[in-house]
Amino acid sequence: MAVKYASVIIDISHESVDRMFQYRIPEHLVPEIQVGSQVCVPFGLGNRVRKGYVVDISDKSQFDESRTKEVCELAKGSVTADSRRISLAWWMKEQYGSTMNQALKTVLPVKKKVKARNQQVVRSLVGMPGPEPEAGEEENFKKSRKILNPWQQQAVDAFSRDYDQGERTPYLIHGITGSGKTEVYMAMIEHVLAKGKQVIVLIPEIALTYQTVMRFYHRFGEKISVMHSRLSAGERYDQFDRAARGDTSIMIGARSALFAPFENLGLIVIDEEHEGAYRSEGAPRYHAREVAEYLAKLCGAHLVLGSATPSLEAYAKAEAGIYKLFSLKKRAGFGRPAEVEVVDLRREMEAGNKSVFSRRLQDLMEDRLKKGQQIMLFMNRRGYSSFVSCRSCGVAIKCPHCDVSLTQHNNRRLVCHYCGYTIPQPSACPVCGSEYLAGFGIGTQKVEEMAALRFPEAKILRMDSDTTSRKGGHESILSAFAKGKADILIGTQMIVKGHDFPGVTLVGVLAADISLYAPDFRCAERTFQLLVQAAGRAGRGSNPGTAVIQTYIPEHYAVKAASHQDYKTFFRQEMGYRQLMHYPPASHMLGLLVAGRDESLTSRMMELIGQSVARHFASCVEVIGPVPAPIYKVNDIYRKILYMKQENYDILIRIQKYVQDRWDETEDCRQLTIQYDFS
Ligand code: ADP
Ligand code: ZN
Ligand code: ZN
Repeated sequence: MAVKYASVIIDISHESVDRMFQYRIPEHLVPEIQVGSQVCVPFGLGNRVRKGYVVDISDKSQFDESRTKEVCELAKGSVTADSRRISLAWWMKEQYGSTMNQALKTVLPVKKKVKARNQQVVRSLVGMPGPEPEAGEEENFKKSRKILNPWQQQAVDAFSRDYDQGERTPYLIHGITGSGKTEVYMAMIEHVLAKGKQVIVLIPEIALTYQTVMRFYHRFGEKISVMHSRLSAGERYDQFDRAARGDTSIMIGARSALFAPFENLGLIVIDEEHEGAYRSEGAPRYHAREVAEYLAKLCGAHLVLGSATPSLEAYAKAEAGIYKLFSLKKRAGFGRPAEVEVVDLRREMEAGNKSVFSRRLQDLMEDRLKKGQQIMLFMNRRGYSSFVSCRSCGVAIKCPHCDVSLTQHNNRRLVCHYCGYTIPQPSACPVCGSEYLAGFGIGTQKVEEMAALRFPEAKILRMDSDTTSRKGGHESILSAFAKGKADILIGTQMIVKGHDFPGVTLVGVLAADISLYAPDFRCAERTFQLLVQAAGRAGRGSNPGTAVIQTYIPEHYAVKAASHQDYKTFFRQEMGYRQLMHYPPASHMLGLLVAGRDESLTSRMMELIGQSVARHFASCVEVIGPVPAPIYKVNDIYRKILYMKQENYDILIRIQKYVQDRWDETEDCRQLTIQYDFS
């Protein structure tokens, strides 16, 4: 039998990941020791026996074989929450092609204690700024429990039954906005807490507002802790520490809340599971839904996904019976779904209307302002005009370091949104010298200006990443609007997600097409989601709502299906396209991105990889490219991508390992970086 070696971390924390020690595994222990096992090992000069975790097993000794010590034994009660997290890291490394260090660093919190704080104050508990609580609100919160409607009750009953019987098929709750999904999650959470288990609730960062957190707080009080990007490393550690010690039993947060070290995890809820933010940008480039599915299996926990517009991935699994599907078709509280009207912008042009507001939208705005009702206008672009170009020679002013146009801001500066490069707006074209420079495309600032011009009486608020970059800017704009301090809220996609404004009876989507032209196979899906969500913002109170979708292509299936709020038809059409093109979820795809300062080296290496993969895996994989990345140059770094499609995910993993092995052996690759993106 071949000798095996275990890499062991003694004190399992983010910082000690780089300090692994290798031990030989005695032959009789080889079958028993796995990644994640807790073992006793001799440590330091005195060989004092200490416990540690196995994070890797290999056939190769990294050090002098004669000086390698041996594992003493498997520790008693060796499966702990940490063991599970290490197994999870191992799975992520394999699944997404990262190193074990990267995976461990994703899963383990940074160890930094913060000074003790007064945890009684909700505001500091949730660690986020918000409106001042009303008098008495914090002390005597009522257990605000709704009587569930039959559709909600059906999902909760099924869950309780399945949960008690140990049946763990994941749930997908497809429910229109306002159909009461959050109430359903809360009832399920209650059931799981009563069994002495713990719960993780993922909510996209953008929807993780004070308002949302307070709803959970009102129901569950001090049992909750919250994890979000505005917390410092120390505060994050503190939240994880409280979970590990059993001080809290519900962790609410964005992606990283998934790694809360609960000893007895019983349930993971992922709200708005279709959100792009659930995919991590750094290595390992994991998807929270996939990791949650694996983690739930590992812990015997249940997984519940919810969305008004499920991802194609999740809905396809529901159709295949891998998830159980529940539908909530009616609004639970006040309000009914908005009337949706589609306006063809080509007709506006023909009629001589050059405004960003169609005639129909202007009429409705006037009507709502007269009635004292609120309006939301959605433009998926920040800045004043999206870019500046020359009317004489047609050239657009671009960033010298990146492959993107500069964005015009109203302080007469041009800014690169990728690297921050900024210049004063030039008075003449840098190429032909013409003075006819003009802004093209419309941003949120411009919309604000035009709305003010058209409706001078209206009070207007604008929300985009320019107005919210200040800490708390986000919350203060939303709460001002919620309190009725403005008539019109203008914003980027930030405003269409998850907020409840009962006073809004009109939503205008100014240019539905922008997201349809994104260079991404998911662009129709994104557009559909955005349009449905935007429409869902209207009429959440007692007055009925209208949504106006302005577009140049009203015949596009994503626009059509969204205007009828018809998810199933959209799913069928989009799935047909994915099948035809072998795009996920009909197939799997590995995107391989190589980046470097040296353009020709980057290209050459990419060609070599492409050829070598095509040669070795010719019969079983479809290779596309290499092609320049959608944004070819960022910060003077050139980026190229190679796509590989294959129905069998394991083959893609084999390709990734094959490429990485060759990469590690190639001297020239030291100057380049490689990144894998599985989907
Ligand atoms: P979703 O999460 O699907 O958007 P919510 O759970 O936020 O929906 O519910 C939307 C609104 O309806 C909330 O104001 C909520 O308090 C209310 N609501 C939910 N369920 C019920 C119910 N069974 N009876 C009355 N109101 C409800
Ligand atoms: Zn010019
Ligand atoms: Zn730039």
